[in-house]
Amino acid sequence: MLQNDFINMLVESVGEQRAERIVAALDTEPEVSVRVNPFKLAVGDLREHFGELAGDPVPWAEDEAFYLKNRASFTLDPLFHAGGYYVQEAGSMYVGKLVRDIFRLSGRNSGLNVLDLCAAPGGKTTQLLSCLMDAPGTPSRGNRLTANEVVPSRVAALSENVAKWGCSGVTVTNNDPSHFAGMSYDIIVVDAPCSGEGMFRKDIKAQENWSVNNVQLCAARQRRILSDIWPSLLDGGYMIYSTCTFNRIEDEQMVEWICSCLGGESLEMRHFYPGENRGEGFFAALIHKSSETGVGDKPSTAKPGRSLRVFNSLFPMADEALSVNLPPDRYPKVELSREDALKFLSKDSLSFPDMPLGYILLTYKGLGLGFVKNLGKRANNLHPMPRRIRQSISK
Ligand code: SAM
Repeated sequence: MLQNDFINMLVESVGEQRAERIVAALDTEPEVSVRVNPFKLAVGDLREHFGELAGDPVPWAEDEAFYLKNRASFTLDPLFHAGGYYVQEAGSMYVGKLVRDIFRLSGRNSGLNVLDLCAAPGGKTTQLLSCLMDAPGTPSRGNRLTANEVVPSRVAALSENVAKWGCSGVTVTNNDPSHFAGMSYDIIVVDAPCSGEGMFRKDIKAQENWSVNNVQLCAARQRRILSDIWPSLLDGGYMIYSTCTFNRIEDEQMVEWICSCLGGESLEMRHFYPGENRGEGFFAALIHKSSETGVGDKPSTAKPGRSLRVFNSLFPMADEALSVNLPPDRYPKVELSREDALKFLSKDSLSFPDMPLGYILLTYKGLGLGFVKNLGKRANNLHPMPRRIRQSISK
C-alpha cells in the first residue's frame, strides 16, 4: 500500500496526471530487460538464445539490450553465469547513451580515466566497460575504469560481475568517497544511494521503508558524496549523476545544488517513469565541470588511485576462465551441455576420463565458464563455493 506522504510528494514532484500514471503502473508487473556483453556475444546471438521470450529492443540502448516477454530463470541459465549478458532495469541503460554523448562532446574516447563511485552490484559498471574497453584483437584505446563500492559486503558481488564481463583495464576498490581526495578522473559516475522509489514495483519492502525523513537523509548523504568527489573530477570533465527515485529533492534539486554550490553545468536531465517508459524508474543527469581547456583539448592528467583500497578477487582462477583475454589454446577445453554446465555450477562432480590430466577449461556455448582439475577417474570442481547455484537444477 503506497503511503499518502509518498503520493503527496510524487504529485508535488511530477504533477497530478503523471503521478496518477505512475501509481497505476506500480500496480502492474515489473518489466525485465537484458543487456548483452559485447565482448562475448552479438545481440542477435542473445535474442536467439532467449528465442520466443526475446521482445522489443530497449529504445535508448537498442544495439545492446531488449525486453523479455516473461521473466526467465537466470540462475538456471549457464550463459548468464558465463557473463553473456546482464539483467538490468531498462532506464538505467541510459548511462551508456550518456557516455557516448561524452565521447561526442569531448571529441575523445581514449586515454580516459573513469570512476564509477557507487558501483555494486555492477550494472552501470558492466555497461561502462562495454563503452570504454576494447574487444580482444582490436587496438586498445587505453581507457581505465575504477569500480568502487564503499560497503564491504557488496564488493564481492561487484568483483564477480566485473569478472564475468571479462575485460582488463578495470580495478575494483572498496573506499569511502572521501578517500578519493587527490585523485583525478575525466568522468565520474555517481549512481547515488537513494530513497529507491524505483524499487517499489519489485520490492514491497521499499514502499514500507519510504518516509519523508528518509528522502531528506538520502539527500544529505548525496550532497556529502558529491562534495567529497567533485574535486576529483578534472576541469573539463563530466559527471553522470543518477538515482532510481522520482522526487525532485534527490533529482532536479540535487543537480541544481551541484551547479550552484559545486560549479557544475547541467547539460541534460532525463527521467524514466513507470507507466511512461517501460522500466522501474530512473533519473540521470549529465553535468560538465567547466574549464577553458576541456577534456578534449589536453592529455589527461588523471592519476591512478594509488592509495585506494583495491579489492583483489578471491577467485583469480575462476575469473581467468571468464576473461575474454584468455589465449584460446592455453588450456584443453570441454564444451558442456546445459545439464552438465548446471551440474558444474552447482559444484556437483563431473568426470572427463578421455581428457588430459590437469586443468580443463569448461565452456558453454563457446564461453568460458570455469575450471576443473582432471585427476583421471574424477575431476575436482574448481567453481568457487560462494558462487555455486543453490537452487535445485532439476527443472
Ligand atoms: N551502480 C550500481 C549498479 O548499477 O548496479 C547500483 C548502486 S546503488 C544505487 C548505490 C550504491 O551506493 C550501493 O551499492 C551502496 O552500497 C552505495 N553507498 C551507500 N552509501 C554510500 C556512501 N555513503 N558513499 C558511497 N556509496 C554509498
